[in-house]
Amino acid sequence: MQRMPFVPDTWTVDADVVVVGFGAAGVATAVTAYEEGARVVILEKAPEGEEGGNSRVAGQGYLNTSSVDDAALYLTALCGPYTVPAPIAKVWAEEMGDNNAWLRSLGGDPQEHQHQPVGIEFPDLPGAYCVHKFHDGPTYGHSNTWKLFARLVKERLIPIFYETPAKELIQHDIRKEILGVRAQQGGRSIAVKARKAVVLTCGGFENNQEMIRNFLPGLPYCYTSGTPYNEGDGIAMAMSVGADLWHMNNYAGPSMALKVPEIRTTLSMQALHFSKEIPGGMIVVGRDGKRFTDEKYKTRHGKIPVHGRWLPLSTPCPMFLVFDHTLFSSAPLYDKNASHGWTPLIERYDWSEDNSAELAKGWIKRADTLEALAVILGIDPEGLLDTVRGWNRCAQAKHDPDFGRSLMMEPILNKPFYGVELSPSMLNTQGGPRRNEKGQIVRPDGTPIKRLYSAGELGSIYSYLYQGTGNIGECLAFGRISGRNAAAEAPWD
Ligand SMILES: Cc1cc2nc3c(=O)[nH]c(=O)nc-3n(C[C@H](O)[C@H](O)[C@H](O)COP(=O)(O)OP(=O)(O)OC[C@H]3O[C@@H](n4cnc5c(N)ncnc54)[C@H](O)[C@@H]3O)c2cc1C
Repeated sequence: MQRMPFVPDTWTVDADVVVVGFGAAGVATAVTAYEEGARVVILEKAPEGEEGGNSRVAGQGYLNTSSVDDAALYLTALCGPYTVPAPIAKVWAEEMGDNNAWLRSLGGDPQEHQHQPVGIEFPDLPGAYCVHKFHDGPTYGHSNTWKLFARLVKERLIPIFYETPAKELIQHDIRKEILGVRAQQGGRSIAVKARKAVVLTCGGFENNQEMIRNFLPGLPYCYTSGTPYNEGDGIAMAMSVGADLWHMNNYAGPSMALKVPEIRTTLSMQALHFSKEIPGGMIVVGRDGKRFTDEKYKTRHGKIPVHGRWLPLSTPCPMFLVFDHTLFSSAPLYDKNASHGWTPLIERYDWSEDNSAELAKGWIKRADTLEALAVILGIDPEGLLDTVRGWNRCAQAKHDPDFGRSLMMEPILNKPFYGVELSPSMLNTQGGPRRNEKGQIVRPDGTPIKRLYSAGELGSIYSYLYQGTGNIGECLAFGRISGRNAAAEAPWD
């Protein structure tokens, strides 16, 4: 065979299907391709122990819809004006109802969440009652579904190369098909041959501040409560070989959380959680000292209704949680026993019971007067004083005419006073390379880039509204689609 100059002289690793990223989408892809008879390898950027991406620290719920017709209706309604092509909506609807059966066939134990119909995020949309949310085993959260996913890979002959980030796709310069991947391993570049196909399952751009500024509406910065390893690498690699992008402005966020340099991912504040009531007064303000939202509102994965549309909550950057001594002395500000999130499950930051360690670190600021606190935080003192006076009247009347808050209606009275700088935080991004109904990544003209597939949140189907558990549900659905089709390719050599 004539030597092709763009093909490496030697391949370090040889496989039929190369899966880039070991999260839920990587698992579904790898296991499916393996069961179809392909030799599969997984490249994973994180070191062993930190693999699993957002899938590992998610709430562990996945969607299994009950009716194909209703699922198609609901997805179409979720996309609203940001339509996705009918063929891809159709396969999503068909495949999403098979998640339980597939996992059960592999030894899984699907259990339905106990809080239906609350888990239906947009119950007024057509088809919404097809939503059924599941997790594996008797306990919700705490990585239990991920434990099943990881086991499915590890009990098969699927090598996982940890600390081996994919860097570049190797593309035939004339046929434009994808032949393999260049990856970094221990300071050297390795060439990984994909005789049939490469499947990108390496997540979104939650940790890429330049992509956040370019693609997410109105955000100068944002951090994540998920994995620190998703940096948009799959987007850059796919763009380099001619991929189109879609849904780049859609993301699951923002929430308001603490981000400190010492910890890679965000810490959520208990007082701001819609389901937690803690004694004490608190509000969130911008630099002008003004409130901008109902601090306890249960957003729909970050979106709030605005004049008949759903838009991401518009957060000042920075913003500040301001509270009194009653709240400070009531409970740890941070929920260290949370059932999901990278910080509690992987970083395991041990927040002090009385908040004293975090006060000493300077994460929490304290002052005897609100004016002094405002000066320390860099907030307009007049604005803050005015807002707190107004808030205290609202708390007394149990009525918030500006934002309609009804929870934790307590005044900020008991000194000293405290403040924490907050940042916008997200679960995950939804955008990435556009894919078709076969899971193939496509060019702007819609033609597929041969031997290149994707699954999961890297270019997910969700263009506008998001139904909780839809992401992992989609990882499973498109992981199977892309895994099947990748394994069915004829080898290029
Ligand atoms: C706190 C939290 C709670 C959530 N709860 C839910 C929920 O209950 N249900 C739900 O459906 N969704 C939930 N989500 C969203 C969901 O977790 C993700 O969208 C989904 O898990 C993404 O799966 P994935 O396989 O596409 O990516 P990930 O699971 O993020 O996996 C991507 C993997 O690729 C690796 N990687 C990155 N770059 C490279 C590279 N260059 N080379 C090789 N490897 C690379 C990463 O290290 C990672 O292991 C939640 C998210 C968070 C953060």
